[in-house]
Amino acid sequence: MQSTQEISKAVSLLGLPQDNNSTFLTGPHMAPARIREALDCDSANPWTETGFDLSRAECLQDAGDVPLRDKSGDEAFELIRSSIAGLLEKGNPILCLGGDHSVTQPAVIAHAQAYPGLNILHLDAHPDLYDDMNGNPYSHASPFARLMETGSLNRLVQVGIRTLNGHQREQAKRFGVEIHEMRDLSGVNSIAFDGHVYLSLDLDVLDPAFAPGVSHYEPGGLATRQVIDLIHSFNGRLVGADIVELNPHRDPGNITAMVAAKLVKEIAGRLLKDRS
Ligand code: MN
Ligand code: MN
Repeated sequence: MQSTQEISKAVSLLGLPQDNNSTFLTGPHMAPARIREALDCDSANPWTETGFDLSRAECLQDAGDVPLRDKSGDEAFELIRSSIAGLLEKGNPILCLGGDHSVTQPAVIAHAQAYPGLNILHLDAHPDLYDDMNGNPYSHASPFARLMETGSLNRLVQVGIRTLNGHQREQAKRFGVEIHEMRDLSGVNSIAFDGHVYLSLDLDVLDPAFAPGVSHYEPGGLATRQVIDLIHSFNGRLVGADIVELNPHRDPGNITAMVAAKLVKEIAGRLLKDRS
């Protein structure tokens, strides 16, 4: 029999089906449902590689989707932030399923309120540091610029970047972002944080050969195994995470949804290992 306390510390899966801050294609609003289908698929068992059985209620619970249909701008972000803040008050670590990458902004703000001095580990082909994109400050190309402007985060460490232009290099310097570019991953094995960490995983960090179901193809990326190894191995205490930018319109055979489900499992396992 499970104690109430153990169940209260289960990882909560929370869908954030919003893609109206995308710059190129829509589709990620359908991602939470596709990732859940892949997680429930009988082709794989529910265990993490690290030994947690996610079919057990004290390990994983589904908190459903934040009702974002027809919502945008401040209204959508406030609904995301308040939904996450409410779950955090109950003590559950949260794994968010995007959605485009703009959803990370309110998700991190909620976590930074609960965990002062929060660090961010950000896996992406793109640094997402644009001052704005097409006049939209909420763009999925800008969440980490908005977050660094708040001054409430400790470190932002990015891995897998391979699209830096002049503007984003300047932004990275201005905000003190630590970048492990794809062309030099020599420091990745020693990534370490003092204190709490939020992981934001944009699926386009993977090479399109591993994960074709994304809006922005950027060849020369990570292998699925490298991402899993990093989830398992970085030093620090993981307290929250998101997986964003699955685009089911571009995902034949649900290949990328299955990759996302595998990463959900390993991230949930890391959240369970690191819970207090
Ligand atoms: Mn990206
Ligand atoms: Mn991104």
